[in-house]
Amino acid sequence: MKCEICPRRCGVDRKIERGFCGESWNPRIALVSLHRWEEPCLIGENGAGTIFFSGCSLRCCYCQNREISQHYGFGIEVSIDRLAEIFLEQQNRGASNLDLVTPTHFVPAIIDAIEIARRHGLNLPIVYNSHGYENLETLEMLRGSIDIFLPDLKSGAEEFSNAPNYFEVATQAILKMFEIVGDLQFDSLGNLKRGMIIRHLILPNHRKESLKIVEWIAENFKDRVILSLMRQYTPMPDVPKSIDRKLTSFEYDSVVNRALDLGLEKIFVQELESSSKIFIPTFNGENVIRDSKF
Ligand code: SF4
Repeated sequence: MKCEICPRRCGVDRKIERGFCGESWNPRIALVSLHRWEEPCLIGENGAGTIFFSGCSLRCCYCQNREISQHYGFGIEVSIDRLAEIFLEQQNRGASNLDLVTPTHFVPAIIDAIEIARRHGLNLPIVYNSHGYENLETLEMLRGSIDIFLPDLKSGAEEFSNAPNYFEVATQAILKMFEIVGDLQFDSLGNLKRGMIIRHLILPNHRKESLKIVEWIAENFKDRVILSLMRQYTPMPDVPKSIDRKLTSFEYDSVVNRALDLGLEKIFVQELESSSKIFIPTFNGENVIRDSKF
């Protein structure tokens, strides 16, 4: 099968060669954990049930997870049956949901694993936590499998993420995601059960682009989705000079204020302290194979 899962449309047979994402068809995973640093409505009592997939179909020069997203072969390859078991193990650990991080290039395997796990009692909401650079037909395949879409809407993606037409592609994808999951639904404790959270990471020196992104979200959704405005940007080694510093409070606050001026009320904001490398998980392969670590 020639791979056209994401907008790269590499057309390669991933059994025998690698495309842009660097991965074969079998899922490769770097960490399975309970994660407390997601948006409050996703962490519940014990944390989101994160599954960090290896590889990525973007290559953001500032990626905090570059260890797993851009170093090919990092992580542990698993079968679809083992992936289904991992889903059930996360449920048994008390995860609030299944949080599939960077899942795009493994969509066919993920759909099969969800089907198997549901037959064996999986009943957690399933979160598709992606960079937003998605094909509409791939998203359509996810109808019925995914409860919550958690896409990024990035600025500077043509320059920093090697993603042509990112804004056009990602906005169409986000409209499609909303069409699939619809309005926000919470349980009695305020945990999100269905709907969409759009994440926007504000970059230094890109405030005006962020304002336009917030305006697009207000115009298309108002408060039918949650907007998560992220200030956690931390410069990694070798990033271009224009983004080689932390965000200022002026840059962050002006984007938050613009969102409020536009009448958006369902907004998550981050504290200044969130810009720190201590929030980057340790990708040690924990729980990928039972009791596994690299
Ligand atoms: S999923 Fe990977 S191989 Fe397939 S089109 Fe995207 S980047 Fe290319």
